Amino acid sequence: MSIPYNEYIAKKFTVVIVGGGVVGCAIAYELSRHKINDVLLLERNDTIPGINQSSRNGGVIHSGIYYPKSVEPLKAALCIQGNDLMYDFCRHFNVPCKQTGKLILATNPQEDEYLHFFYGIGQENNVSGLRMLTGAEAKHMEPNLSEHVTLAIYVPSCGSVALDPFVTKLHTIADQYGVIFQTASNVTGITIQANGFALTVDQAGQQETVECETLINAAGLYADEIAKMVNEESPYEIEGTRGDLAEFDCNLRPDVNTSGMHLYPAPFCYDNETKETVDEKPEKLLELLKAGKVTKTLGTHVSPVFVKDGDAWSITKVTGVGPLKTMETGKEDYETNFHPMSDFANKVRPYFPNLKETDLRPRFSGIMAVLKGKTDFVIERDKKYPQCINLVGMDSPAWTAALAIAEYVHTLYRR
Ligand SMILES: Cc1cc2nc3c(=O)[nH]c(=O)nc-3n(C[C@H](O)[C@H](O)[C@H](O)COP(=O)(O)OP(=O)(O)OC[C@H]3O[C@@H](n4cnc5c(N)ncnc54)[C@H](O)[C@@H]3O)c2cc1C
Repeated sequence: MSIPYNEYIAKKFTVVIVGGGVVGCAIAYELSRHKINDVLLLERNDTIPGINQSSRNGGVIHSGIYYPKSVEPLKAALCIQGNDLMYDFCRHFNVPCKQTGKLILATNPQEDEYLHFFYGIGQENNVSGLRMLTGAEAKHMEPNLSEHVTLAIYVPSCGSVALDPFVTKLHTIADQYGVIFQTASNVTGITIQANGFALTVDQAGQQETVECETLINAAGLYADEIAKMVNEESPYEIEGTRGDLAEFDCNLRPDVNTSGMHLYPAPFCYDNETKETVDEKPEKLLELLKAGKVTKTLGTHVSPVFVKDGDAWSITKVTGVGPLKTMETGKEDYETNFHPMSDFANKVRPYFPNLKETDLRPRFSGIMAVLKGKTDFVIERDKKYPQCINLVGMDSPAWTAALAIAEYVHTLYRR
């Protein structure tokens, strides 16, 4: 539902959500399901979900194996809950998704050690159906794996979902339940009122004011900026981390990735200052993660993706390869120095040698909203102006976790 400005500026909304990515749309869906009236969502792009993280990601439904509860309690809880909710939602509303399963692969003794560590995390987090496999057992599941694979974790709850249909479905249902979606609406300023907020909104160069009792900041890469508009002492700082993605046509290489599973290397960490890989024991990495000195990354993976095939969506036409990270390109640069295809083939070669550089073509790049100094999601009320709920550092796995995040925000809102 969308209404003319002169109608909506006249009223005070119960809730305004800033940001129409998957997180903002899931919150709109959740609030509308609970019959909270007078909700407005403002999105600065012309479309929902816009051009940011939610339309430029891998579409992987993560399992929750990567998040140690002692460091990332919200990611641990919300990813696992979100995984279940995502499959239920997609089945119920006919959104294309598939529980493909995944193998996380080690090719040397250090990676063996990391796999044992993350297997332990997965068990602690109650990720369902995990199995540790020998290299031979993994190769039996996916014959294109390298001879050098020594160990693997089989993760059956991992899968893929079609990007656009998922967000569109959230948007459509919330819209039907009465949420007002206003696109091309850029929030440029916020002032504090006795009982809420007044937002300055730029629409095609025209400045309007929108008032609300509660403000939900789901602005992704720009959530730090919205938080500072509310409270200039807000501590968050988001760094854009670009990930370039490539793909290959499954019809041209039907002989690779015959299992149709996600294939991931062992995760690793890089130093936040130097951006170099940190080769430490898992326990030491955990300490460094807690201290905000390193960032964990899942590595360059081979992943089945949904693409439009006529009027339908197919997961058997294209396989994604990526991401390859490009640091310090900021929040806007999706193009400069896109990695050459040889980089992608080289990255996966240790565990997946049959893929050639010439099989690959660029897919797209996305920029992840990484919060400086903290690796978990931050979902909390502003300390000075508690009528504002901030969602900051909504990097991976916020796509998977979106429905669980929305439930969490609804509970926080009710409290
Ligand atoms: C390359 C890549 C691969 C990824 N792969 C996966 C994956 O496979 N699985 C997974 O679970 N997660 C993945 N992620 C993470 C996932 O995409 C994000 O966590 C998720 O999409 C975040 O959604 P969001 O709604 O918070 O942010 P966004 O999608 O970025 O949405 C925020 C919205 O806020 C709007 N906005 C910002 N400022 C303003 C303003 N001032 N006024 C109005 N509107 C504003 C923006 O226009 C934007 O549309 C990946 C991310 C990247 C970049």
